[in-house]
Amino acid sequence: MSKPSVYDNVTRQFDKAADLMNLNPEIRKILSRTTNEVIVNFPVKMDDGRVEMFTGYRVQHNNALGPYKGGLRYHPAVDIDEVRALATWMSWKSAIVDIPFGGGKGGVQCEPGKYSQTELERISRRFTYALGSNIGPEYDIPAPDVNTNAQIMAWILDTYLSTMPAHERQASVHVVTGKPVESGGSIGRDKATGQGVVFTIEEWARDKNFDLKGATYFVQGYGNVGSWASRLLKSHGSVLLAAEDVSGAVFNPKGIDPDDLYQYALKNKGLVGGYPKAETVDHQTFLATKADIFIPAALENQITAETAPGLNVKLVAEGANGPTNPEGDAILFERGIEVLPDVLCNAGGVVVSYFEWLQNKRSEFWDLQEVDAKLHRKLVAGYERVRTTAAEYKVDWRTAAYIVALTRLETVYKERGIFP
Ligand code: NAD
Repeated sequence: MSKPSVYDNVTRQFDKAADLMNLNPEIRKILSRTTNEVIVNFPVKMDDGRVEMFTGYRVQHNNALGPYKGGLRYHPAVDIDEVRALATWMSWKSAIVDIPFGGGKGGVQCEPGKYSQTELERISRRFTYALGSNIGPEYDIPAPDVNTNAQIMAWILDTYLSTMPAHERQASVHVVTGKPVESGGSIGRDKATGQGVVFTIEEWARDKNFDLKGATYFVQGYGNVGSWASRLLKSHGSVLLAAEDVSGAVFNPKGIDPDDLYQYALKNKGLVGGYPKAETVDHQTFLATKADIFIPAALENQITAETAPGLNVKLVAEGANGPTNPEGDAILFERGIEVLPDVLCNAGGVVVSYFEWLQNKRSEFWDLQEVDAKLHRKLVAGYERVRTTAAEYKVDWRTAAYIVALTRLETVYKERGIFP
């Protein structure tokens, strides 16, 4: 069976919001298309001397609010459809949390687990070289996403700077965010997306008079977003019941210590499978875990017409991008399961990327307290905008979040007009 189109999900979400808010039809035409789509095929020398060809993507959806911004993903399922969808979500996300960025996304179609560190380095460097001036510190700024991390950002940075004229190098470190702190990264960027997920859950809990102490949750994906969200939620006294990643799912009705699970994963190639203090369960059983909160933090299209009826939770807090498709959304809505949509819930990453970008431009270093406080303010304000809009239009939160973003972009296009 072919992979379902993720971009089709974006289009349907977009159409629903655009119809409801009566988005100006001319601006609707602009926002329903991506601006630039770059596909590069590039050769990389393997450790054994062979040459492999790779396909890389960078899609730039819209830059009316600021430079294109969004992560790079290394995964076998990366294709133009997926990257288009992810780039478009980035445009909405930046508009919702009010940061001066547009939307972009990219990636390389590959199975990173197959390659050595030296091969991954050469893939990253050669991809950066192939992208050339399609990225840039004031133009399009990549960051980490699935299977990419601070180390990969450091290689991209080094390659980009090495290919710049000498006098422009020092002024260009903001070409990527999510860098190691020593190489110009921001304190707090590593945990930012998970932290944002928890800040939005806190707001939801406050709204609903829901006590997070003793609340139960489970998480899909135990990488950057899933592991940070799980560990930070622990500080509220909430209890992690189950976790799943590519290696399988583990469950313990008495609770799993997220820090202990993290330490186990660190020693186990980053994987939770085989965690000895929990039982192994299959995917169906994992998804049916009875809990207060489900945090999908892996890939798209996980909550669908097939899986949504089996969810047994009060809230879905979307750490991942696009984990719920429109059919899944409709079922959750009918069943009264609330959703903190990706474009709000996981926006913490891009917010702190913005802070990193600003610090680089100003040669400043903020401390964690400052980063967290500013992130909190941005997300609470975004949450409030979406909450108010959902009440005003009497719609689900994803549609409300889209309306917030589209309204902002519509205003900018109306003010500026269209050249010529
Ligand atoms: P990551 O590579 O650090 O972790 C991904 C996790 O998902 C891993 O634990 C992996 O094993 C798991 N996974 C992959 N396929 C799976 C499957 N089929 N079933 C179950 N688990 C599976 O990536 P990440 O940065 O944590 O990103 C996770 C999600 O969050 C993605 O949707 C990404 O786009 C989104 N996101 C990331 C950031 C960020 O700052 N890193 C920001 C916003 C959104």
